[in-house]
Amino acid sequence: MKDKSYTEIICRKFCKYYKEGKEELLCRGYEILRDNLTAHELEMLAGSLKSGDEIKNRIPPKNNEMTELVCRRCDFFIDGCDFAENRSGPPCGGYILISKIISRRFC
Ligand code: SF4
Repeated sequence: MKDKSYTEIICRKFCKYYKEGKEELLCRGYEILRDNLTAHELEMLAGSLKSGDEIKNRIPPKNNEMTELVCRRCDFFIDGCDFAENRSGPPCGGYILISKIISRRFC
């Protein structure tokens, strides 16, 4: 189950796929952020990033480390993620945030 304070940041600001009312559905990216950062820490980190359509729609370069770290254990990896399946769509908000936090290339 999602936590509203994390959902506001990860999903509402950064995820193209977020749908209101589907609070029982969460990806591995969300779980990693929720389990390793307080909502306040996440808000501070996310505050350095642009949000909105630009970042939500960007398809980043292929990154095998991120696939292993974030996507491989995601419930949507096998069926349900355009990014993981064939990169026909952008990654979820969790993936975007983790990628930016790791690279520290806040843009
Ligand atoms: S990009 Fe897709 S497979 Fe990877 S964590 Fe997000 S929803 Fe899951």
